[in-house]
Amino acid sequence: MFQPCSSQNSFPANYFSSPIDFQIFLAANFGELRTDHFHSGIDIKTRGRSGEFIRTVADGYIVRINVSPGGFGRALYINHPNGYTSVYGHLDKFAPEIEKYVKEKQYQKQSFSLNIFPGKNDFQVKKGDLIGYSGNTGSSTGPHLHFEIRETATERPTNPLLYGFPISDRIPPIIKSIALYPMGNKSSVQGQSVKKIFTVTKTNGNYRLKDSSEISVSGRIGIGVETYDLLNGVSNKCGIYTIEVLAEGKRFSYTSMNEFAFSESRYINSYIDYEEQQKSGRKIRKTFIEPNNQLRIYEGTKGDGSLYIGDDETKNIKLIIKDSYGNTSFVNFNIKGLSQNNAKRMVPESKEEYLMIMPYQLENKYSFNGFEIEIPKYALYDSLYFRLVISPPSKGIYSWVYHVHDRFTPVHKSFTLRIKPEEVPDGLEDKLLLAGIDKNNEIFARGGEFKNGKVELRTREFGKYFVSIDTLAPEILPHNFIQGQDLSKKKELQFKVKDNFSGISEYEGRIDGEWILLEYDPKNDSLFYILDKDRIGKGKTHELILTVSDQKNNQSKFIMNFFW
Ligand SMILES: [Zn+2]
Repeated sequence: MFQPCSSQNSFPANYFSSPIDFQIFLAANFGELRTDHFHSGIDIKTRGRSGEFIRTVADGYIVRINVSPGGFGRALYINHPNGYTSVYGHLDKFAPEIEKYVKEKQYQKQSFSLNIFPGKNDFQVKKGDLIGYSGNTGSSTGPHLHFEIRETATERPTNPLLYGFPISDRIPPIIKSIALYPMGNKSSVQGQSVKKIFTVTKTNGNYRLKDSSEISVSGRIGIGVETYDLLNGVSNKCGIYTIEVLAEGKRFSYTSMNEFAFSESRYINSYIDYEEQQKSGRKIRKTFIEPNNQLRIYEGTKGDGSLYIGDDETKNIKLIIKDSYGNTSFVNFNIKGLSQNNAKRMVPESKEEYLMIMPYQLENKYSFNGFEIEIPKYALYDSLYFRLVISPPSKGIYSWVYHVHDRFTPVHKSFTLRIKPEEVPDGLEDKLLLAGIDKNNEIFARGGEFKNGKVELRTREFGKYFVSIDTLAPEILPHNFIQGQDLSKKKELQFKVKDNFSGISEYEGRIDGEWILLEYDPKNDSLFYILDKDRIGKGKTHELILTVSDQKNNQSKFIMNFFW
């Protein structure tokens, strides 16, 4: 069968060399489904440890150096003359020359976080040069190298597996289930107007639906598929490359993970069945396109990728799923058009008690007593039967509780919420914030500011909202020493910093009055300082002052004298 791989062939093959000195095994690949975004590169295993040599994959120059407590942690961006930029994330350390340059900039700016753009001649590199050491910095949860190849001009991340890196994958994708979605007001699947999921099994190397080979539907339907890829030598579940859907041998939906723009990455919440993912954790990819989904991966899809079945019509449906190495799996089944009059109607509950219809292409506003919501146009993926349920304040809650639509409906752009507190504790207005309730029934801080009698927040989530307060400052505890101990043999000072509610926002350390470079690692609640004799001097008593504030400006101070 003809396979359009034109964009695949346009990537320069075998131009780049491996960034590591040993065999590449992947913990994750390009386009994998993550929370609110697609994975923008590949995660290369570093033999389970930090400190492996990381090398530049081609000649070029360092165009950007980023240091951040979250995201890619310590990261390097290198421009190459062929129009691509390679990115190396979660590094433990940079190569010594770069590390020295970064530290100077950090002291100059008095900031651990850094985003700098060296000149073209500052750090020229040759293919294979050592540029850093692998690590686990930023939001990484285990040592690995996050590696990307971006198109320099557009900064769009591309699929690194299309460049001929020596990676072994001879295993075809796994298909777990198929989902059918009734799309119109009169559509149904097996007589009901709600989505239905069908388990897929594999027998004799072929995938088929477990319980039926023919499904009765009526009207317009959309198709979803739960699928992932496996690579040789590793057990990690990776993402797939293309999904093609055919009806009677004719393609009507085709998606491919060649590249996307960062500004599009959040459309993942429309690409996947968000509600299913929130409720059961299953990740179903939809092969049809919601009205306000502007992701660029649907290039081979006709219209919105849905399918109309006439009464008594039978169609053979085939899904063909490939990984980046051309390994292919497919599943076949029949759908039979049932006369719409014979279909039992079952209206989803959610549409029954709605407050208003919010068209996705318009700005939508609603206010009621102490509550206001303003949703900008194109913030919703589709028009919405908006619901609002209100319940009275309970103990420890400073306003009524607003159930804003439901947390299973994703929102693309930020919208504004305002809630009036029932009582404002004297002089504590600036400590008020909006909070929610998580899956485990625990209250969590959402944020916001007190303005004109209401607490205002920009957010991208529906769910429960109410006014709460944060007056407790973060906790600072010494971690690798006890106060009063002789510290002259220590190489670094470690602290545990934790906040009870709104979260840590700022921190600063000074020794003998001078600013010091503290590294913050939020995933471990860790703040540490590497003792530096060139900056603070050795063999004397020093004074350390550490201040840590939360989002609501509650501040803690830790002061000690120590000999080093
Ligand atoms: Zn990654």
